[in-house]
Amino acid sequence: MCGVFGIFGGPGEVNAASLTYMGLYALQHRGQESAGMAVSDGDSLQLHKEMGLTANVFDEEIINRLPGSLAIGHVRYSTTGESSIINAQPLLAHCSKGAVALAHNGNLTNAQELRRELELGGSVFQTTTDSEVVINLIARFGKDDLQTATIRAAKRLRGSYALVILARDKLIGLRDPLGIRPLCLGRLADGAAGRTKAYILASESCALSNLGAEFLREVEPGEMVVIDQAGLRSIKFASRRRQAFCVFEYIYFARPDTFLAGKNVHEVRKAIGAVLAGEAPVEADVVIPAPDSGTSAAMGFAAATGIPFEIGLIKNRYVGRTFIQPAQEARELGVRIKLNPVESVIRGRRVVVIDDSIVRGTTSATMVRLLREAGAREVHLYIASPPYLHPCYYGIDTSQAGELVAATHTPAEIRDLVGADTLHYLSLQGLLRAVGTPGQKLCAACFNGKYPVPVQQEVNLPEASLA
Ligand code: 5GP
Ligand code: SF4
Ligand code: MG
Repeated sequence: MCGVFGIFGGPGEVNAASLTYMGLYALQHRGQESAGMAVSDGDSLQLHKEMGLTANVFDEEIINRLPGSLAIGHVRYSTTGESSIINAQPLLAHCSKGAVALAHNGNLTNAQELRRELELGGSVFQTTTDSEVVINLIARFGKDDLQTATIRAAKRLRGSYALVILARDKLIGLRDPLGIRPLCLGRLADGAAGRTKAYILASESCALSNLGAEFLREVEPGEMVVIDQAGLRSIKFASRRRQAFCVFEYIYFARPDTFLAGKNVHEVRKAIGAVLAGEAPVEADVVIPAPDSGTSAAMGFAAATGIPFEIGLIKNRYVGRTFIQPAQEARELGVRIKLNPVESVIRGRRVVVIDDSIVRGTTSATMVRLLREAGAREVHLYIASPPYLHPCYYGIDTSQAGELVAATHTPAEIRDLVGADTLHYLSLQGLLRAVGTPGQKLCAACFNGKYPVPVQQEVNLPEASLA
């Protein structure tokens, strides 16, 4: 999971670097390990990237050193390749097409195979990410223009990719044929005349609304959009009836103010909470969310049951998302630092606590313990998604089945492990009903094991998930 952003403005129309900075800020929840942008002034490309949050990586002086009206940006959450500066994006390469920068959200399932093939053909690699394979492939089609080379490269890629690509005078965006990761298109208009000042590509629509840009549409699965001085063109490079948009975007990844396939994420999560309430009725005094990822679902649950919604756990906002720390030790430490109960809400009460998902179980166990310590009479844990049974190979860092507590424990065992009085997961049918998108347009492989793209052995597929 990462966030990508791209902007194409006419010369002098926009300050691409400062708008990209704001866009990355809006997409920060999609990745906190590194941030970066490549900017073109119409002549050459400049790159700045570092480990850390957008606000730490950039300051005014750096932004001022990146003039131009075209840019792409990236916030990273490492999936393939270690978490280090060499793997930060955008990646920049010089090839027959001039300088080309690329930023990728997703995960290629045939990256190792492609890399081996490219290396045998003489390509050299500087990073350990799958994304570098894409830029190398594009460079390989030396006689083709960037647009053609990108299509030829895309036809070789398997897995998930939402890509933004920047050349001196061109911005390209594309989405894999199954549309696993999101990418949308927007427009920054000149207030008075309504003239287009810039086109914008972003992982989520919240980055458009934050910039005052108008949402135009989503980039379609298997579609490439090319934006240059001649305007915007759309090229369908693959078409399939089956789509596989990641249902976890609705459950957890996307920001509640984002729209995905026309549906507002907050509203979908409220619907999920209502369905969950209907599936497993409970008698309780108060409904609280796991902050902040359970908030919308808890609101829907409270509205459906009439049990009062309360804030019972306070999250220290200045601790990053626990899951993001790549080491288990850091993760556990982070969980303790970041949560504190509101005792007046909890003491003597029968508490329903709602979280979006259980991955390793660390967060749930900590929450239940904190609620008991704060005097909860009963703790009922409700999870706004089905048991997370199968690792994701399309861009989420849960690729070890052994780490998924639901893969090795029954719900009753998990209930006991985390110390709750009851534990209820949402059913898969309930999830699909709440999302309202036909199942054949979604990926739900982490719940049902039906991988929309065959997973190859080079991604260390554990035996357990070959189901
Ligand atoms: P656990 O503590 O069970 O390992 O993880 C569950 C918690 O992590 C939930 O509160 C959920 O909000 C969050 N979470 C679930 N999936 C992901 C993910 O892929 N990335 C990140 N950063 N957090 C996740
Ligand atoms: Fe999303 Fe799960 Fe599919 Fe991964 S396996 S793309 S997290 S639905
Ligand atoms: Mg959470």
